[in-house]
Amino acid sequence: MQMDFEEKISVLADLVRGASGRTFALTGAGVSTESGIPDYRSPGTGLWTKHDPAKTASLSALRRDPALFYSINLKRWTSYSAVQPNRAHHALARLEKYRHIVGVITQNIDSLHIRAGSKRVWEVHGHLRTCRCLECHRQYSFSELAHQVESGLNPPLCSACRGLLRPDVVLFEDPMSSDYHKAEKALSGCQLLLVVGSSLQVYPVAGLPVFARHVAVINQEATPWDERAALVIKGSAGDILDALARVLEPGQG
Ligand code: NAD
Repeated sequence: MQMDFEEKISVLADLVRGASGRTFALTGAGVSTESGIPDYRSPGTGLWTKHDPAKTASLSALRRDPALFYSINLKRWTSYSAVQPNRAHHALARLEKYRHIVGVITQNIDSLHIRAGSKRVWEVHGHLRTCRCLECHRQYSFSELAHQVESGLNPPLCSACRGLLRPDVVLFEDPMSSDYHKAEKALSGCQLLLVVGSSLQVYPVAGLPVFARHVAVINQEATPWDERAALVIKGSAGDILDALARVLEPGQG
């Protein structure tokens, strides 16, 4: 049976109500495209169509040629601070405030969920607020690293031991973050997982839906979980989550 947009939102709202506050969101790069940050895999606009991040944003690329690593990646990363959260980020923050979702597990490193007001956020691939020394592990703000590179000190170095600075993001070949392990634990008892804007191709995060009793997929393209999902809504994360948050707003029945 074909459902129109309103009907799909109503079914999604029923799934969220039925999960009695034990819903989590799992977001990927697609939740931030409406803020102007390209994802990896969307046809035509995805970053993957230009570089292979497994090669350019890997630990071995950083160690092999740190200056090249920063000249390829830094501009993109620093541009995220000028970007604003969009309707999808704001809707998830409202859904947490209304206690419909526990929090957001995100693969994104752009801090947009936190800037939109989400309180419980598991940043499983790290973030760009801090960086640290590869040798002595001293932590600095990310802006310290960016400032050095932008003033011609590339690669950026630790002022204590002259070791190489690295961003606190999970690079290809890095072990998973402590947030990833905390997210896995938090998902025990998860009744509903809203997967938003993720192609579900990057493991181990793409395996997290197995911990949820039910899964709803909100994405523009098909994902490997579509066949097992209780509901799939194809379209804009901003349109869909904003409509959902409006229906679930306190006082809306
Ligand atoms: P992905 O690029 O593999 O998949 C993104 C998915 O989002 C695609 O399937 C696409 O159809 C969908 N999409 C794009 N715009 C959408 C929209 N407006 N509404 C609904 N769906 C939309 O991204 P991924 O699964 O997150 O995996 C890529 C990896 O790259 C992740 O580890 C992520 O951390 C990283 N990454 C992060 C950022 C960021 O921090 N904003 C940006 C690019 C890549």
